[in-house]
Amino acid sequence: MIDAEQYAGQPAAPPEALPSADPAPAIALRAVHKEFPLRRGKTVHALDGVDLTVRRGEFVALLGPSGCGKSTVLRMVAGLDEPTDGEVLVEDRPPSALVREHRLGVAFQEHALLPWATSYGNIALPFRVAGRSVDRERVEALLDLVGLSGFADARPRQLSGGMRQRVAIARALALDPEVLLLDEPFGALDAVTRRRMNFELARIWAERSITTLLVTHDVDEAVLLADRVVVLTGRPGRVRHIEDIVQPRPRGREITRERAFHETVDRLTELLDESAE
Ligand code: ADP
Ligand code: MG
Repeated sequence: MIDAEQYAGQPAAPPEALPSADPAPAIALRAVHKEFPLRRGKTVHALDGVDLTVRRGEFVALLGPSGCGKSTVLRMVAGLDEPTDGEVLVEDRPPSALVREHRLGVAFQEHALLPWATSYGNIALPFRVAGRSVDRERVEALLDLVGLSGFADARPRQLSGGMRQRVAIARALALDPEVLLLDEPFGALDAVTRRRMNFELARIWAERSITTLLVTHDVDEAVLLADRVVVLTGRPGRVRHIEDIVQPRPRGREITRERAFHETVDRLTELLDESAE
């Protein structure tokens, strides 16, 4: 016999069965706190309860005033540091797991190129580090992708700042990573070169949308490149605002002439200024 009450008590379908449910994010920070110990028992409170997700194939830009913990977020996602409290997961696993499998591509401002190696040699480096044989075709395709085919044999000192950054980005892409982490990759460039590099990255990204977390303090750069912009407060960094950037891709120079672009930039700049106060 069928008991009606038993039917009434049936649990609803689990949320993962619903078509609208998000799959596991590529990057997840959950309630992340970070304190750095100083001398005499003092600490710097860098991050305070940061929740942040990056969906697979999404480009998220992290904006915030200097010292609010942006690089700390990236270093934790890259497995170079750990939260004091909370958790950081990449593809649902500790970041170190992906690092071991060479599935994370990293271009940090301070990650200099090998000065004695050519562009080719620098882009081929991750293969050597991973103990794999160098895929010549792949390295050449990457040189082409970043517009440096003619500079395969040039050493970093023979290249402009913008070209060096392009080599660094090509190197980060060498092993076809699932996740790309960029910490102010254009921070050292002049405004004109930086702008050109932004369009370059937008173009590269349009060819193959790879899950990307970009740290920047440049609002134009964030709005031009990202699907979502996360604004952090001043230290200790907390998520202050998340902005969906709806401009269609590919995004070229014409986007930066649109009123909607400037309105978004102005609004985020205001939030950023308030964060810095
Ligand atoms: P951002 O990249 O937003 O400028 P950081 O993440 O580099 O900020 O740093 C956040 C705060 O944590 C700063 O006050 C910085 O001085 C401090 N900090 C970062 N790394 C360390 C460290 N290894 N030891 C002590 N303090 C640190
Ligand atoms: Mg930083």
